[in-house]
Parts: sequence; C-alpha cells; structure tokens
Amino acid sequence: MIVIEGCAIATVDAAGSEHASGHLVVDGDRIVAVGAGPAPAAALEGARRVDGRGCLATPGLVNCHHHLYQWITRGLAQQATLFEWLSELYPVWAGLDAELELAAARAGLAALLTSGCSTSTDHHYVFPAGGGDLLAAEVAAAAGLGIRFHPCRGSMDLGRSRGGLPPDEIVEDRDAVLAATEAAIDRWHDPSPGSMLRIAVAPCSPFSVTGELMEESAALARRRGVRLHTHLAETLDEEAYCRERFGRAPVEYLDDLGWLGDDVWLAHCVHLDGPSVRRFGDSGTAVAHCPSSNARLGAGMAPLPDLLGAGVPVGLGVDGAASNESGQLGPELRQALLVARLRGGPAALTARQALALGTSGGARCLGRRDELGSLEPGKLADVALWRLDDLGHADVADPVAALVLGPPARVELLLVGGQAVVEGGELRTGSEREIARGALAASRRLLELAEVTA
Ligand SMILES: [Zn+2]
Repeated sequence: MIVIEGCAIATVDAAGSEHASGHLVVDGDRIVAVGAGPAPAAALEGARRVDGRGCLATPGLVNCHHHLYQWITRGLAQQATLFEWLSELYPVWAGLDAELELAAARAGLAALLTSGCSTSTDHHYVFPAGGGDLLAAEVAAAAGLGIRFHPCRGSMDLGRSRGGLPPDEIVEDRDAVLAATEAAIDRWHDPSPGSMLRIAVAPCSPFSVTGELMEESAALARRRGVRLHTHLAETLDEEAYCRERFGRAPVEYLDDLGWLGDDVWLAHCVHLDGPSVRRFGDSGTAVAHCPSSNARLGAGMAPLPDLLGAGVPVGLGVDGAASNESGQLGPELRQALLVARLRGGPAALTARQALALGTSGGARCLGRRDELGSLEPGKLADVALWRLDDLGHADVADPVAALVLGPPARVELLLVGGQAVVEGGELRTGSEREIARGALAASRRLLELAEVTA
C-alpha cells in the first residue's frame, strides 16, 4: 500500500474532479481511494506514506507516438522538411542493430519516465537485414526500466525503385512483415487487465508502404484483436504525393483501404479538411498529436479544436527524437496549448484540456480508457506527483496552470502499476548517467558507420 497525502489532485475523470488538498491510496497495482483531505485512518496501517505537500498529483502521462531508435540520431538535418529529413536519415538508420536499438530505447524511455510518462507506445518500422531482433531489444529496455509499453510492429515495403521514398535497402518483403508482425503478437501481446505490454500493427506511411500491405496489416490486426497505427497527413508534400499517386487526399486513401475505425490511432493529422475531421469523429478514429515534432519540421499546426469539437479522441506524442530532440512528454502539454492558441486564439485550448490530452486522451488512443488516464478507484496506479512549490511554480495561481504553463516540473514520484519508477526527479530503475553514456557510444558507432558528421 502507498498513501499520498497533502497534494493537490487533478483526477482527469469524466467530471474533471479536482481537490486542492487530497489523498490517494494505492494497493498493489490499483488505485483504491482518491478524495479530499487526509486519507482514512484504516488505509495508513503498514502503508508507505508520501508527503505530497507542495505537489500536484495527476494520472501518469501517456505517450502515443514515438520512434525510440531515433534517440541516437538527434541533431541531424536540422533545417529539413520531412521528406528531406527522411531522405538524409534513412541511410543512417540502415545501420541499426539490436545493440544500438537497446541503447537508444533505454535513453528514450528514461527521458519519458523522468518527464512524468508512465505509458508509452513506440512505432518501430526500420528493420535492416542482419540487424538482429530490434523489437526484442526495445521490449527488454521497457521491461528493465518499468514503463508500461505498447510497441508497434511497423513496416515499410515500398522502396524507391517502386515509387516510394525510402531506399530499397531498408524496406522488407510484405510476407516477411506480416509473419514477423504475427510472431510479435504471439510472443509479447498481453491482452489481460493491467497488461504491461500490448503490441499494435503499424505500417509506416502512404509513401513507404504499399496499399496491399496496408490492407493486409488491417486484416491481421482485426483478426488478432490488436490496434492499428500509422502516420497520416503530416505534411503538404505527403498530400501532394497521395494526390499524384492515388488521386486522393491521405484521409480518403486510408478510408478506401478500410482503415478508419475505433481500433485505429493516427500520428500527426496536421492537414485535414472539414469532412476528414468529421469522418474521424464518426468512425472513432483517434489522433496522436505531436506539436513539437510538427514545429521542428515546420510541418504545420493540427486543427486541434476542430478534432476535439468533432469528438475525435486525441492524445499527445513526442514523436521520434530525431525530430524532437527533447524527447520529454511533460513539455508537450505546454506545446500543445501554445500551438493550439497560435492557430485558434486564446480560448482554443485550456490548461485542463491540455492535461486531458496527455492522460485520458492518450488512454483512449491506446484503447485503455477503462484502466488508464485518470485517478479513480479501480484504475491502474499510474500516478505522477509533480513538485510545484519551487521557484518556477510556487506562486502560479492554479496548480494545473503551473504544471502546463510553467517550466517543466520535477517529477517527485512516478508510479507505474504501483511501482515507484522515478523518485525525487531521478530514475530509480536505471542509472541516467550510464544510459546517457550508452546512448552516446551508440550514436557515435552508428554515425561512423554511416560516415555522417553532425
Ligand atoms: Zn513519427
């Protein structure tokens, strides 16, 4: 049992319940009580007591889009558009192997955990021949660090010689993709309550995957009862590509392939027209909004208020660290709010809506709203306790505004399934210094292999 007391609490439940000073009781991997004032005396016996004064408790954040391997290719192609950036980086990524993937994933996941993220997905779509078992490497990294993990078995089968963007050397054969994806589901997917790992099926994008693989991936995911993910409508270049090659906008193309539905979440969705937004809302298709990455690549600003207004489930994603060198999810709350207001004015997104994107919205993207994304009895004990009595936050009038609008807050405690993974701002399940050293060595090895100088 863990009892946290004396903190402000933003539950992010359906009613938006908050407590200026409250308690939270955890038993095993579940929340058993949340409320105002001190914890009931009966809860205290034998429990670990956490003094939450000066802190705000929220649900642990949920990251809905990432490419962990990119951690070791940060800082490259700094002024490039998406297509230029990909074209420069694909040859570097062709040198990936399982050892490099492990080092990159440990670093990327450590950055997420220490920024208050308790659940992350990863979209891995680069599987160079002879590179070893890259998915196994990131699964091991996540298990070792204690984060709840939803890795997506990604894929590319449309190389340059057939009109795609990636070089032929890093695309796979379609049948090999489908077999490896099904094998990943067999090996790792855990559909049970409280699951720490669920697999999703995730062909990469319209310009790197054939329509046949998109359709067969959807059929596989639905046959096996797992979720579907891909990139969509990220840039105007992608829209021009789809119109030229398929005679349709990206959303129409995906819709015609039978993809849209409440078992699907899509990264980016920056360039959408009104009918596309409504189609997402009607079909229950969810969106992983990645505002920092979209800004880094100059891709544009997603129509967030329109999506929310149409009832589209929206979560937040850091996206790969090669297009968001920060790799932290906490600051994406602020970035989402600022970008929404740049596009739509000061009422476009509230601080509480931004927090909901990063918590309950993310849980909806991953199909886990029944277990994650809010602090309520019966939900999983994924809890972030943010320190807000320091210089950066102490006199901000409202704790939720302090968290969202203020500087990145220190994570005093992060529980994942009731396990303390971050305490006092520091990772407890690994050495940040050792992880950083490993990532640096891996980055050097990969860049040397590709003969890249930053
Ligand atoms: Zn991405």
